[in-house]
Amino acid sequence: MPEKFKAPRGTFDVLPEQQPVRRRIVEVAQRRLEAAGYGRMDTPVFEDTDLFARGVGESTDIVQKQMFTFEDQGGRSLTLRPEATASVCRAYLEHGMQKLAQPAKLWTEGPFFRHERPQAGRYRQFTQVNAEAIGSDSPLVDAELILLAGDIIAELGVEGVRLRLGSLGTPETRAAYLDELRSYLRSHEGDLSDEVRNRIDANPLRAFDADHEGTRKVMAEAPTLLDRLDPADAEHFEQVKALLDCNGVSFDLDPTLVRGLDYYTRTVFEFECDRLGAQSGIGGGGRYDGLIELLGGQPTPACGWALGVDRIALALEPDEAQAGEKETNDGVFIVAEEVGRQRALALATELRRAGITADLDLAGRAIKGQMKQADRVGARHALILAGDGKATLRDMSSGEEREIDPATLVETLSAP
Ligand code: AMP
Repeated sequence: MPEKFKAPRGTFDVLPEQQPVRRRIVEVAQRRLEAAGYGRMDTPVFEDTDLFARGVGESTDIVQKQMFTFEDQGGRSLTLRPEATASVCRAYLEHGMQKLAQPAKLWTEGPFFRHERPQAGRYRQFTQVNAEAIGSDSPLVDAELILLAGDIIAELGVEGVRLRLGSLGTPETRAAYLDELRSYLRSHEGDLSDEVRNRIDANPLRAFDADHEGTRKVMAEAPTLLDRLDPADAEHFEQVKALLDCNGVSFDLDPTLVRGLDYYTRTVFEFECDRLGAQSGIGGGGRYDGLIELLGGQPTPACGWALGVDRIALALEPDEAQAGEKETNDGVFIVAEEVGRQRALALATELRRAGITADLDLAGRAIKGQMKQADRVGARHALILAGDGKATLRDMSSGEEREIDPATLVETLSAP
């Protein structure tokens, strides 16, 4: 027996019945983003490995452990994109978009790839919707992006959502702060849990998440990055918060919010959904004022986010399943005896060409089986072709039947 193939670890098939919810997520995002002036741009799913090494950051988990990297036949090192921002910035520079009115507002959607340990809500191929505004440092940009993401999530009906907001300042402020935090932790080493103590050098911010009683006491008094922002960054953050307040957005200030990518500066945010268990992040982003320069452009401030389509779909699943049960396809299923099958295909084709949803039996079912199939596919009508050439149109929900001239079918079914 040949071995059975399965989708690769950490990937999954999206079956027909799972499509509507995912399609809706992208449609709502597209409508709201395009209404706000964001234009769609698609970039390749693979890029030069160096783009991500430089753009995402050599020291990040993504670059160190999670990239799907391969060599092409010309010996070039390529990587399946682990995120969108570096690609969008590469395209911004490649197409000279700095010459357009700024900020350039772009959105994209598609698959991304990270070699992570798979679990519920965490996959090796996942789908994101991304929005990026490149070329302005105005706090209005940060606020606009957060408002758009929040409104998309709200329109979709995701429940139990919380917005966490922080500011990282500049890379220099951040580095100085981390040194200060390390010294602070060292001066309280005796009170910390072993785990936190062992990670003072590698990840001192972890200490803020600890459950350990002694560590928590130490952290209650610890300096936070928000207290150390330089005046311009602090003022920028104040303005972002004020804009969110006056647009009725509630958020939790989170001085320990760190994101897995090196390029963030100033504002960072994450949307979390409490219905999702461990992988609760449904979207996040922030400002990345240094990235364009890092990729060879002029210093250019920018801000963006990514929404996780798979996780939002998971959060919406129960409701969608219920809605799916009631769905009818508004179309017609043509039921025919053996002799009428050719005519059934011709009629279905005519209807489809007229833009009407039409289906027919392709499996040699008897009439009774065909009626069942009409019901199963959710057709609103069944058209029953009798051997003598007569045709009957049956309303599948009321059971009402009437004889009909097939020549008038398109007209009858197009009528509202
Ligand atoms: P990030 O690009 O890491 O900021 O992630 C933005 C959003 O993408 C997250 O909030 C998740 O919803 C989603 N996401 C990131 N990584 C994964 C993954 N491995 N599997 C599924 N969704 C993911």
